[in-house]
Amino acid sequence: MNVVTRFAPSPTGQLHIGGARTAIFNWLLARQAGGRFVLRIEDTDTQRSVAAYTDGILASMTWLGLDWDGEPIYQSQRFDVYNAAIDRMVEAGTAYWCSCSPEEVDAMRETARAQGRKPKYDGRCRERGLGPGPGRVVRLKAPLTGVTLVDDLIRGPVSFDNAELDDMILRRSDNTPTYNLAVVVDDAEMGITHVVRGDDHLNNTPKQILIYKALGLALPAFGHVPMILGPDKKKLSKRHGATAVFEYSDEGILPEAMLNYLVRLGWAFGDQEIFTKQQLLDAFSIKALGASASVFDREKLLWLN
Ligand code: GLU
Repeated sequence: MNVVTRFAPSPTGQLHIGGARTAIFNWLLARQAGGRFVLRIEDTDTQRSVAAYTDGILASMTWLGLDWDGEPIYQSQRFDVYNAAIDRMVEAGTAYWCSCSPEEVDAMRETARAQGRKPKYDGRCRERGLGPGPGRVVRLKAPLTGVTLVDDLIRGPVSFDNAELDDMILRRSDNTPTYNLAVVVDDAEMGITHVVRGDDHLNNTPKQILIYKALGLALPAFGHVPMILGPDKKKLSKRHGATAVFEYSDEGILPEAMLNYLVRLGWAFGDQEIFTKQQLLDAFSIKALGASASVFDREKLLWLN
């Protein structure tokens, strides 16, 4: 198989420890298979995306020695591609225009909640055959029964009840595509074979699988990397000290030490602690990653240095 992986940061901050580990895993997977590693900047949220963060992320990746193939792809430049995919779905009947106002949808959710059901859009525009119009959105016609299975490379099979999944919005009323739609269109077009990302995205994966199916696209393999915790077992954050990769490069940590440390975090491989890049490429296996969160240990990183 010609392995193609990607790293898809949102430029809303610097590259942090957790993102770097995800990038490293994707890089290792591609490079050990002689495949491709591509970089996609997920900058569709124009309010929160900052160009200087993109530069910082690229600089941190270069510092770590993670080279990518081709030019980075910027989602903000691809709205036409996403909208064309949405149009194809409407034409195929797997998505539909919806004229319900946000207030009406809130009321539906409230009713469902009061009846002890999952609060979600009730599908009243599904069969109305509406076309575009002011204030209208496009929704996915999601299956109402059955399950969507995520066969995760790290966690094993995770099953989601379709009744819990919403007819999610694919195109907002301002004509912009939503996040999950853009990710699927891009991953498919870039030929991604393995989607490896943080497990904070696990709940997006069944939604994305429904979009793949609606577009008639083959699914990639998925792997959700457990998060990194601080010494107090809470999600690693600035409270715990430096979390951005550049802060470590600034304080004299060597890229090889950072790379080695982050790969070994959560990856069981006997007693060996110190690996060269080539040894990591030879030995790394995504399937050997543990499914539970790991604790970031600054002392160990300093020791490796
Ligand atoms: N842009 C997302 C993030 O930075 C990653 C999404 C993905 O890898 O699918 O968390």
